[in-house]
Amino acid sequence: AFRAVVIDKTEAGQHVELRMFDEADLMDGDVTVRVSHSTLNYKDGLALTGKAPVVRRFPMIPGVDLAGTVETSSHPEFKPGDAVILDGWGLGETHLGAYAEKVRVKGDWLIPLPRGLTPYQAMAIGTAGYTAMLCLMALERHGLSPDRGAAIVTGAAGGVGSVGVALLAKAGWHVIASTGRRQEADYLKHLGAAEILDRSELSGPGRPLNKERWAAGIDTVGSHTLANVLSMTKYAGAIAACGLAGGMDLPATVAPFILRNVALLGVDSVMTPKALRLEAWKRLANELDLDKLATMTTDITLNQVMEAGRAIVDGKIRGRVVVEIA
Ligand code: NAP
Repeated sequence: AFRAVVIDKTEAGQHVELRMFDEADLMDGDVTVRVSHSTLNYKDGLALTGKAPVVRRFPMIPGVDLAGTVETSSHPEFKPGDAVILDGWGLGETHLGAYAEKVRVKGDWLIPLPRGLTPYQAMAIGTAGYTAMLCLMALERHGLSPDRGAAIVTGAAGGVGSVGVALLAKAGWHVIASTGRRQEADYLKHLGAAEILDRSELSGPGRPLNKERWAAGIDTVGSHTLANVLSMTKYAGAIAACGLAGGMDLPATVAPFILRNVALLGVDSVMTPKALRLEAWKRLANELDLDKLATMTTDITLNQVMEAGRAIVDGKIRGRVVVEIA
C-alpha cells in the first residue's frame, strides 16, 4: 500500500482524505511509476472541491500531472529507473491520478523527463506551463510574430498566465498582463509584462468591436473576458483560448471574425498527440527562464492539497504550486 489523496462519493456528497491505497486497486496499465512530484492545476481544484464534475470515477485519486521514476514496465520505450513525466490523458479524471506515491499508467502517455529540467522544475512548469507553450505554438502556427503588435494574457497571475507572460516576453512580445490582483503588478513585470491591465476592464458585457489593442493573446478566463479580448484584437490577429476561470460561456458576436479576420484558436492539453507534446516540452526546457520559473513556484505536500485546491478555484493562488510527494 502507498499514500494517496482519495476522493470518495457517498449520498452525503464528496469526501476527500489522505489515506493508504492498495496497489492491487490501481487501474490497468503497462508501466508503474514511483511519483516524486505533482502539481496543482485549476482542474485539480475543481476535482478536489467537486465544484465541477471533472471526476468520472470513484474512488478517484486526483492529480493531472506527475514526474517520477519508472518502477516496472512492459512497454518497449520504458525501463525501470527511467525519469518520466505525464500530463493529462484523463489522469485524475478517468484514471487514478498523481496525488499518490505510485501510479500505474499506459506507457504511451509518458514522455521522458525533458533534457535540462529536474523533475521538480518539470512540475513547476506542469500542465499549466505546458498549456501556455501550446498556446504560444498555436499563435505562431497562425503566422503571428511580435512585429504585428502586442500580446494580451488574461488571468496573468495564475499558473497558465504566469508561464504565458514569461514565454511571450522571452519570444519578444510586448506583453499586456490582465489581472484582478493589482498587488501582483511587480511580480508580473518581473516575469516580463510591459503593461498591466485591470481585469475589470475586460470582465463586463462589451461592444462587438472596440479599439484594436493587441495582435495576439492567451486567454485563461473565457466568458465576457474572452469576448472583450476578441473585440479588441487587431485585424488578422488571433487569440488562443485554453481556460474558463471566469466562466464556460462565450457571450460574443461574430463581428471580430467577419470584419477583422480575427481567429479564435482552441487549445487542449489533455489529448494532445505525443509529437506535439515532445516539441512543447523541448521548447519549454530551452526557452523558459528557470530563475523566473522559481519566482512563480511554491511548494506544498500531499497533506496540503485539499486546502490549496480550494484556494485555486477561488483565484487565490499565484503562479505555480508543486506538490512534493517523494
Ligand atoms: P489559476 O492558476 O487559478 O489561474 C486562473 C487565473 O484566472 C487566476 O489566477 C486569476 O488571475 C484569473 N481568474 C480567476 N477567477 C476569475 C474570474 N472569476 N474572473 C476573471 N479572472 C479570474 O489556474 P490555471 O491552472 O492557470 O488554469 C487557468 C485556466 O486554464 C483554467 O480554466 C484551467 O481549467 C485552464 N486550463 C486548460 C487547459 C487545457 O488543456 N485547455 C490546461 C491547463 C489549464 P488574476 O488574479 O491574475 O486575475
